[in-house]
Amino acid sequence: LLDSQIIDGKAVAARLRASIAQQVAERVERGASVPGLAVVLVGEDPASRVYVGSKVRACEEVGFLSRNFSLPKNTDQASLLALIEQLNQDPEIHGILVQLPLPEQISVNAVVEKIDPRKDVDGFHPYNLGRLAAKSPTLRPCTPYGCMRLLQAYGIDPTGKKAVVVGASNIVGRPVALELLMAGATVTICHSKTQNLPAELAQADIVIAAVGIPEFIQGTWLKSGAVVIDVGINRLPSGALVGDVEFAGARQTAAAITPVPGGVGPMTIACLLQNTLEACAALEAV
Ligand code: NDP
Repeated sequence: LLDSQIIDGKAVAARLRASIAQQVAERVERGASVPGLAVVLVGEDPASRVYVGSKVRACEEVGFLSRNFSLPKNTDQASLLALIEQLNQDPEIHGILVQLPLPEQISVNAVVEKIDPRKDVDGFHPYNLGRLAAKSPTLRPCTPYGCMRLLQAYGIDPTGKKAVVVGASNIVGRPVALELLMAGATVTICHSKTQNLPAELAQADIVIAAVGIPEFIQGTWLKSGAVVIDVGINRLPSGALVGDVEFAGARQTAAAITPVPGGVGPMTIACLLQNTLEACAALEAV
């Protein structure tokens, strides 16, 4: 048996970032505005700190303006909403990202719905999710958008394929299923109440794994020749990062698979930049 092809998200993301940097340089040359992203972190969650740090660094590398807001864990909802309102009105800011999870005194829905949908570069606002569901997307959730761009970069067309999404969260599973549906796949969404996951996966030409359980999906569950996009990022007690798919086993069955790290992760950040650039262009056109 041949090992499957590795889908190199790091390389695809680097190409996308280079293209974005080029477009920023062109904007500067013609006197157009520089895309600006505001990143808001509430509390001290270590994983969130790492994500926010990578996002801010990525912004700076492509020439965006980035503004970082670090609020204490006990911040009340009204103060956070007031900050978002201020950013909604700020002409230098085209994208607003509030890092999740939020402390328990703050309602995620209230925060997400407060963000001007035109600046909602995470794509979580009900307006943007609704547009995606109606196959007329505006700003698209970054991780699902990144998965689709990876498939596209490797010439994998979902049209007519059977796709199985494992995980149904608002930020990954559900929107990636909508993306695949829009791209012409026949889509099944599995979750914790799914009765026979291996039987579902045995049908899948394309698998998107977004469960959050280390190496949960076994290689033997996959259909031979499947394309596997592993969204999971799980830190083992040893410190190693692994995905939601048993990588060594999956390599024996799958035609192509994303590694963790170096697969979907870098694409998520590159798509955040892409969304911020698109938001900037759209706001300017008004
Ligand atoms: P959530 O915890 O929000 O959702 C997990 C989903 O998996 C739920 O829909 C849940 O079902 C389902 N699930 C749980 N157990 C099982 C099971 N035994 N069988 C089938 N389905 C199950 O996670 P997220 O969607 O936020 O994240 C998923 C993973 O992706 C995590 O590892 C996270 O770190 C990673 N991630 C990576 C990103 C990246 O940039 N690469 C970005 C975002 C997340 P139910 O709905 O029934 O509860």
